[in-house]
Amino acid sequence: MVRVRFAPSPTGHLHVGNTRTALMNYLFARKEQGRLVVRIEDTDIERSAADYERSILDDLEWLGISWDEGPIRQTDRLPTYHTYAQDLLEKGRAYRCYCTEEELERKRKEAIRKGEPPRYDGTCRDLPPEVRKQIEGEGRPFVVRFKPFAKAIHWADTICGDFHFPHNAVDDFILLKQSGVPSYNFAAAVDDVEMGITHVIRGADHVPNTPKQIMLIEAFGRKPPQYAHHSLLVGNDRKQLSKRHGATSVRDLREMG
Ligand code: GLU
Repeated sequence: MVRVRFAPSPTGHLHVGNTRTALMNYLFARKEQGRLVVRIEDTDIERSAADYERSILDDLEWLGISWDEGPIRQTDRLPTYHTYAQDLLEKGRAYRCYCTEEELERKRKEAIRKGEPPRYDGTCRDLPPEVRKQIEGEGRPFVVRFKPFAKAIHWADTICGDFHFPHNAVDDFILLKQSGVPSYNFAAAVDDVEMGITHVIRGADHVPNTPKQIMLIEAFGRKPPQYAHHSLLVGNDRKQLSKRHGATSVRDLREMG
């Protein structure tokens, strides 16, 4: 059975661009007699707010975009992400990284200065076991990072056609932050497999995330869903639609009649 999801982040009101994503998922689910899951991606704790969540759900209802399951809130699912992270740690596909924010910031600036892409340099990737043990004994805070496969990533996108990313496209990105809260890419990959999502329909701004999510899902030993990345709404100037172009939230348009 077709299972799709609409996964807004409650960091603002429902935007017309995101509404289009919701509509496509809704129409596809109805056409295929599948199910639409609403997933609230609230792992950006500082920017997420319960009021925005209510407002998004309210606007969806007002538009007549109904869903079959949820809302499922990611912050209610932390133990699930921890189980997946533990599994990757045990399989050697993830590691604890003890680098401090300051160290990372210094290295990031250094890379930019040299004209290199600012990616994690792998300091904690291959720490000798004795060193790791000692650091762990000190109880230092850590993040959990992914250890990617050196593997090219390909997917046949339903809308855009073939995508190919080279073997080094995915870096050692963060799975769990120091607070134990998952990153967007990790939570999305876990949830897409856990919720049995068959088709991921979302904006093309997410294309750079897809290689990470595919590689993670493969590391879980699961099969990635079918991806479909749709175009983004633009203004008269062909730039991505934003507040500069006027009202872009459903709420504002609704209030304007
Ligand atoms: N929470 C993401 C957003 O609002 C959606 C991510 C996704 O569809 O995978 O852009």
